[in-house]
Amino acid sequence: MGKVTGFLEFDRKKVPYRAPELRVKDFKEFLLPLEPMERVEQGARCMDCGVPFCQSSYGCPVSNLIPEWNDLVFKGREKEAWKRLLKTNNFPEFTGRVCPAPCEGACVLGMNVTPVTIKDNECWIIDNAFEQGWMKPLPPESRTGKKVAVVGSGPAGLAAADQLNKAGHFVTVFERNDRAGGLLMYGIPNMKLDKDVVQRRVDLMKAEGVVFRTSTAVGTDTPAKNLVRDFDAVLIATGSTRPRDLKVPGRELKGIHFAVDFLTANTKSLLDSNFSDGKRIDAKGKKVLVIGGGDTGNDCLGTSIRHGCSGVVNFEVMPKPPAERTPDMPWPTFPRTLKVDYGHGEAEWAFGKDPREYCISTKEFVDDGKGNVKGVKTVRVEWKKNDAGQFTMAEVPGSEEYFDADLVFLALGFLGPEDAILKDLGVELDARTNAKADYGSFATSAEKVYAAGDARRGQSLVVWAINEGRLAAREIDRFLMGNSSL
Ligand SMILES: Cc1cc2nc3c(=O)[nH]c(=O)nc-3n(C[C@H](O)[C@H](O)[C@H](O)COP(=O)(O)OP(=O)(O)OC[C@H]3O[C@@H](n4cnc5c(N)ncnc54)[C@H](O)[C@@H]3O)c2cc1C
Ligand code: SF4
Repeated sequence: MGKVTGFLEFDRKKVPYRAPELRVKDFKEFLLPLEPMERVEQGARCMDCGVPFCQSSYGCPVSNLIPEWNDLVFKGREKEAWKRLLKTNNFPEFTGRVCPAPCEGACVLGMNVTPVTIKDNECWIIDNAFEQGWMKPLPPESRTGKKVAVVGSGPAGLAAADQLNKAGHFVTVFERNDRAGGLLMYGIPNMKLDKDVVQRRVDLMKAEGVVFRTSTAVGTDTPAKNLVRDFDAVLIATGSTRPRDLKVPGRELKGIHFAVDFLTANTKSLLDSNFSDGKRIDAKGKKVLVIGGGDTGNDCLGTSIRHGCSGVVNFEVMPKPPAERTPDMPWPTFPRTLKVDYGHGEAEWAFGKDPREYCISTKEFVDDGKGNVKGVKTVRVEWKKNDAGQFTMAEVPGSEEYFDADLVFLALGFLGPEDAILKDLGVELDARTNAKADYGSFATSAEKVYAAGDARRGQSLVVWAINEGRLAAREIDRFLMGNSSL
């Protein structure tokens, strides 16, 4: 622990965002750096706890060595901090930008004051390493001759490919999109995670020997069974890509889209042509309704505002979260408290109020007479505990309302992986229609086929995808070599 009194002397200081009036004019990242001395002070706040909950099972899913690198940041030993960080996390430049930071929810300092800025410190360590030129390709010194196919290039597939390549196996990543990265590339928008940051990592992995076959859908462009024939092991990391629908009257009207289609088309058009190809779903001048909260809903708000929408509302069926922790979410569990994310702040700046409507359910989409959506009929709901202690939802009589909306995005989560490739390979599904494979072994019911990430655990987080990719790689290495040093 570098500075014994650091947590008493310095307040928590998060990286600031660019002002809304500036950041909504472009798709560049909204985070601004801290001054070097401020970063040192933030490192100094870490108490190097005897039991570091931040890296326990309540905290960081990849068990980052958080107190060690916080201390090294305080001492100005950035290169050592970077080396410690890479021991546990293949892609801290992704988690340092998009992770909801369960580590900070579990930080001991957070019990009575504000937690250490763990996530920002992480992001600074890796961004600094790239800036200093320390991140160079490091191909393995020797090859084992074994070949592994990874299907899907999201964080789970990338983490597994990176680890397996380090172990000396020949790794080929199959990706049906034209660019690698999964939801890091097409899903999470640029302002949260710049696509140059994703491409930089993919290029580094290519230089280390990983082969990427983009625009190749396994099951369509390449028969899935060929992978089992041609490779020594196969990892399914295809994500959870079936969006949940809202089957109410009027769903067929024009102007109603799945959120992920809106976000994907936006990023692709931006990267391909700076929007000149006209292929985005344009929210300019539209009254936008986003149904569903969470990261995806928030990303739709931020993207619509950047297009120049004329208004935005965000429906959430659940009640408004509390401002502070409540007895059912004690420290060190993740605090499910009210968050004002970048999109909410931008909506407030643009239209004068937080866009979120809570405890509201959509009953019907209304036709403008020409087959386009022009609004929605809704009802308010209340949540009560039943005799078994479970929360149940009931409509509030007489609470019917109408909201104008000529563009609607459904951000209601995902139901699981597409099953075509799983069927082709004979992989059993679990009760939630994910690829069935135990956490820890990651082996599916099909010989030499493994599964990791959202395709196995259901929709989750980038940091969990990295965790599963890393651990699945270790199991595959063990299967191929009899043991593993991963
Ligand atoms: C809009 C949005 C915002 C999000 N924001 C955050 C956030 O801020 N923080 C966070 O931690 N998490 C966030 N998430 C969740 C996070 O992105 C996912 O949990 C994570 O990307 C899952 O990683 P994965 O590798 O399992 O799958 P994915 O990232 O979904 O990647 C799967 C890849 O497999 C490819 N694929 C599928 N089938 C085939 C096939 N047959 N052949 C070839 N390729 C195939 C897909 O094209 C895709 O590229 C967000 C999700 C969404 C949708
Ligand atoms: S990966 Fe996420 S949980 Fe782990 S230290 Fe970074 S921000 Fe915290």
